[in-house]
Amino acid sequence: MGVCIDQGNLEDAYNRCIEFINTKGCKMIITPNTEIIMRAQKDSKLFQIINKADLVIPDGIGLIYASKIQGKGLKERVTGVDLMYKILEYCNENKKSIYILGGKPEVAEKACKNIKNKLPGVEIKGCHDGYFKEEEEINIIENINRLNPDILFVALGVPKQEIFMDKYKEMLSARIVMGVGGSVDVWAGTVKRAPKIYQKLGLEWFYRLLKEPWRYKRMMVLPKFMIKVLFQK
Ligand code: UDP
Repeated sequence: MGVCIDQGNLEDAYNRCIEFINTKGCKMIITPNTEIIMRAQKDSKLFQIINKADLVIPDGIGLIYASKIQGKGLKERVTGVDLMYKILEYCNENKKSIYILGGKPEVAEKACKNIKNKLPGVEIKGCHDGYFKEEEEINIIENINRLNPDILFVALGVPKQEIFMDKYKEMLSARIVMGVGGSVDVWAGTVKRAPKIYQKLGLEWFYRLLKEPWRYKRMMVLPKFMIKVLFQK
């Protein structure tokens, strides 16, 4: 469907991140799932942003099935929440710093507190909730640059976070800007990740549907996606 996704597993994605952290310039990481790929079919801006990103990981089991059906080479799902965890572990061991932008008021703060408790070596430069006006954006960016974190995690939901990252990437002093969506809620403890068994069976989407049934409308695109994949084959 025209969206480029990096091949490789979690370890490969992590290694790319280490390269990014140790190279000049800000690199953008996007973590699309099936829903987002379908959205990008109608939203040309989102489509272009994903294809411009420096690392795009397949954060949805549907993408792996599609790739297998079409022989495109994606082998396993790489989730944003897992990659974020590994980046944080690296920060913990190498005294690197982060900033979290997004989530409801207090969610980013709670997430930072929990990160600090679990991984005390991570230097937390600051956080800001994700409910601000457009005219406040530039001040937020300037403040982030003043604090100069190595990594900026952005959790504003799709496609807001992708548009935001693309708009400010060139201005940012951070080495990585990564869209993490609901991962901040997982760190804050306000959303629970699916138990391991759901993850293993590729049913994390189903668990999310059980817990957040109002998402069913957004998820209606999943069967449409599979039909499209089969027809394209
Ligand atoms: N969010 C935000 N500002 C907004 C919209 C969303 O900070 O204007 C946050 C929201 O509170 C949540 C995160 O973005 O913490 C991800 O939202 P959601 O789960 O709806 O997005 P998804 O990751 O499913 O695209």
